[in-house]
Amino acid sequence: MYAGFPERITAARKSLNKPLTLTEKILYAHLWQGQPTSAYERGKSYVDFAPDRVAMQDATAQMALLQFMQAGRDKVAVPSTVHCDHLIMAKDNAATDLQRAINESNEVFNFLSSVSNKYGIGFWRPGAGIIHQVVLENYAFPGGMMIGTDSHTVNAGGLGMVAIGVGGADACDVMAGLPWELKFPKLIGVKLNGKLSGWTAPKDVILKVAGILTVKGGTGCIVEYFGEGAEAMSCTGKGTICNMGAEIGATTSTFGYDESMSRYLKATGRADVAAMADAIKEHLTADAEVYANPEKYFDQLIEINLSELEPHLNGPFTPDLATPVSKMKEAALANNWPTRIEYGLIGSCTNSSYEDISRAVSIAKQVKEKGLKLKSEFTINPGSEQVRYTVERDGYLDTFSQIGATIFANACGPCIGMWDRVGAERQERNTIVHSFNRNFAKRADGNPNTLAFVASPELVTAFAIAGDLTFNPLTDTLINDKGEKVKLDEPSGYELPPKGFDVKDPGYQAPAADGSQVKVIVDPKSNRLQLLDPFAAWEGIDLKGLKLLIKAKGKCTTDHISMAGPWLKFRGHLDNISNNLLIGAVNFFNDKTDNVKNQLTGEYGTVPKTQRAYKAANVGTIVVGDENYGEGSSREHAAMEPRHLGVRAVLVKSFARIHETNLKKQGILGLTFANKEDYDKIQEDDTIDINGLISFSPGVPLQIALHHSDGSSEVILANHSYNEQQIEWFKAGGALNIIRREFA
Ligand code: SF4
Repeated sequence: MYAGFPERITAARKSLNKPLTLTEKILYAHLWQGQPTSAYERGKSYVDFAPDRVAMQDATAQMALLQFMQAGRDKVAVPSTVHCDHLIMAKDNAATDLQRAINESNEVFNFLSSVSNKYGIGFWRPGAGIIHQVVLENYAFPGGMMIGTDSHTVNAGGLGMVAIGVGGADACDVMAGLPWELKFPKLIGVKLNGKLSGWTAPKDVILKVAGILTVKGGTGCIVEYFGEGAEAMSCTGKGTICNMGAEIGATTSTFGYDESMSRYLKATGRADVAAMADAIKEHLTADAEVYANPEKYFDQLIEINLSELEPHLNGPFTPDLATPVSKMKEAALANNWPTRIEYGLIGSCTNSSYEDISRAVSIAKQVKEKGLKLKSEFTINPGSEQVRYTVERDGYLDTFSQIGATIFANACGPCIGMWDRVGAERQERNTIVHSFNRNFAKRADGNPNTLAFVASPELVTAFAIAGDLTFNPLTDTLINDKGEKVKLDEPSGYELPPKGFDVKDPGYQAPAADGSQVKVIVDPKSNRLQLLDPFAAWEGIDLKGLKLLIKAKGKCTTDHISMAGPWLKFRGHLDNISNNLLIGAVNFFNDKTDNVKNQLTGEYGTVPKTQRAYKAANVGTIVVGDENYGEGSSREHAAMEPRHLGVRAVLVKSFARIHETNLKKQGILGLTFANKEDYDKIQEDDTIDINGLISFSPGVPLQIALHHSDGSSEVILANHSYNEQQIEWFKAGGALNIIRREFA
């Protein structure tokens, strides 16, 4: 696990000739073989890394693994796991909801189970738990590097990892044994002074940080937490803070190795990992000089005094609108937020540790003790079967049930909109409070008028009892069934279960030792899953006679190229999801979305239908775009769909870098106008040639010949950023074709 790790860090320190932050140590220890140990420019240099692990959730794993199957390997190159957590709709209760999900999505689960079994991937069945909680309990380790196909992969920073959310194409590359590229991050240091106490919880640290940095403040940065307050905090509390670092746009967040991590590793059956980490602990935290003078080593420094930190509620509609609980009454009245709380929801991967549940239950049990009643509906989503089993054994679930709470499945549920909330379709304005991380409009129940506020589980429990957003449990009283005024005692709990963790069936399926005879299960008639065929190689000649599919105007994000929402259920079926190709892009020539001219017939139609007509006629096409084409989520479908339907090139004023790379990986030519004004020369009826491909080489522009419908022609230049290797991707018809060739 740590072979060569201290040596690599020592070499980096010597070569850079300066003390190192924890983040730098982990990054330098994971440089891809051959990548030099030199000083990389923060926020500028692109560097190749070798992650230790890959984790995938069920929704995003489908396309990642369908692509991986194309790589020709018989096993994944690094330890990898799949977790079935996103496809379970919360409605009635854990057992009923789980069975319904299995009935509805069985073909997806069967595919994921069989493909995992075949290729050496650990598979966590539906009901086993939420990806990040399961990873923290089983796989995360101090000083490690992990990528995962989910933005909250960052949760593993709680155990001292650099863990980063990526798209399926990146996961596929790493599983296939390729390097993973990351822009060397800027570093934000957060020094935690003092100590948490009373009603204040780790959640309040990240709610406060979100208020300071806003949803964009962490972009391109890794946040490193340190200080006495960090050391005094539980490991799972650190996980909560790192988890919600995704809400400030941070690449990831992390903490140095300490006693709390050692305790957590031992409690979760990994005393061997704790012993290995202990042996090299000076390499698993920053050098002493860094934390003594942090302003010299971080690009930005924030200090928070935990002893003075108040519990917060963040929202509605954005996780960075931070309001201390003492100011909520004022804020709610000033903004006319509905003050009656309809629902309190706790759990999710963010806040479902034993400590979270035990602190929440210390509030819940006061309902009976003090003669109170729950005023709001109250639900719990345990993060893993291990936590669920243990809190059930310790009587906590019973306490929740006795006060009328509903226990949902160990899955994402309401945190990702998988919540069949009664009456949500009426779209009434209402308030909910939850311990999840995201609270954008429609995120929990699909109702754009639900105002969701984020808080710690113990605070959410208090609010569910009070049913009132203006309630401050630190100072206010409630009226009990005898008409008396009673005050809630402050929460208390256990960092780890005093009787240890326990679980009967964790829901894990180990892969076959030899998967060669295992058959991957995909029904050829399925409309949700489709095995991929390799894309055709370049034919070896210039691309002549391409038709313009669309000249996209203005913003064209990966959402415009491949819409989400209802389309997500087809993310494992390339042909079906391709019916959303570019339906959100605005056609420059008529200002309409999903309405383009078919040059073969002169008729206007939807983009996918028009492109399918070109494909049927064996006519290649080109997409033209504006600035920063392909910004937004890194989803690979935005590059795979045009490739599948026969688009040969995308020519734009500028690209979002990840999308440009995704296009290259899929074998589509990604080009930029050498002269941005040439965008104006593209006409609706143009036929286009791309010349110069036979001598395609790095740094040499290609020539684009535009043949207009009036018979005139002109030639413009297109730049590209292909290196030698990427040119090989293009020639082979895609990066996976090369990997497959190598393994064959
Ligand atoms: S619980 Fe929420 S944040 Fe966590 S993985 Fe599921 S959807 Fe994402």
